[in-house]
Amino acid sequence: MDMQTSLLDRLFSTGLLIDTGVEGLYGRSGAFEDVIARFERLIDAYGGADGAEAMRFPPGMNRAHFETSGYMKSFPQLAGTVHSFCGGELDHMSLLQCMEVGGDWMKDQKPTDIVLTPAACYPLYPTIAKRGRLPAKGGLYDLQSYCFRHEPSNDPARQQLFRMREYVCMGTQDHVTEFRQTWMDRGLEMMAKVGLDVTMDVANDPFFGRAGRMLANNQRDQNLKFELLIPVTSAAKPTACMSFNYHQDAFGAKWGLNLENGDVAHTACVGFGLERIALALFARHGLDIALWPAEVRKVLGYQD
Ligand code: ATP
Ligand code: ZN
Ligand code: MG
Repeated sequence: MDMQTSLLDRLFSTGLLIDTGVEGLYGRSGAFEDVIARFERLIDAYGGADGAEAMRFPPGMNRAHFETSGYMKSFPQLAGTVHSFCGGELDHMSLLQCMEVGGDWMKDQKPTDIVLTPAACYPLYPTIAKRGRLPAKGGLYDLQSYCFRHEPSNDPARQQLFRMREYVCMGTQDHVTEFRQTWMDRGLEMMAKVGLDVTMDVANDPFFGRAGRMLANNQRDQNLKFELLIPVTSAAKPTACMSFNYHQDAFGAKWGLNLENGDVAHTACVGFGLERIALALFARHGLDIALWPAEVRKVLGYQD
């Protein structure tokens, strides 16, 4: 049995994760959720004084905004769309007949105006663009959302529906790159506080296809993405539990985000993979939270 299967099996047998029969789609126990809630309070403690505007979007986004984002150019393999039955009574009868014989009932489902959110920050850009120019001090936003990515896997750290907590910064190049550096420093400090071994590395997104390889190389060469890696299922191949992305003025130009003086805004976002962080804690300190090191329990606010 490989390491991955065994951690997932142990998570199932302790009830921390609940098997749904689909890889990467799990229920979570109260204790698992509580770890995430407590880690989010730690995030709040670090970011709370920055004055970010908090917003919470549902896990589905406006399809028109998704189309504008260009996600299908870069990551068509990961996207999930929401379809519904839109027919009349006759269509309903043939739908039921089709299902009865195990036929392809999904083929008549029609697209809705909603697609599943691929990253917590996607609904933000059009929302802020609609407001007009950014304030002189730039923009800082606090987001959290379930995100969907079609990447079924038996690695418990690679889920299809998972939560991302994000801070997004909009402003000048200097402003947003300083924001990103601040969170890279904070990320390292926070993970050390909860007893996790971390490494920081330059990274790239999984851009689709042959043209995507060039985009990925370019992203790496320009240091546009960093990841904070923590062992979850393997010490040799640690898992990205945070990412730190500098978009230059790409999103600013795409969405029409402008500074007070009219210049196109630069943007950056930092994302915490909340399930991955919880899993890293369980992998490192064991599946019984009562037995976690006293220091770690204290930082997370558990009563002793
Ligand atoms: P990876 O390289 O492991 O696929 P990523 O580069 O796709 O990660 P991002 O797109 O930067 O990740 O997403 C932000 C954060 O969301 C990641 O740092 C990670 O912690 C988390 N995340 C990404 N994909 C998943 C997933 N499939 N399951 C759980 N968490 C994820
Ligand atoms: Zn983002
Ligand atoms: Mg990925």
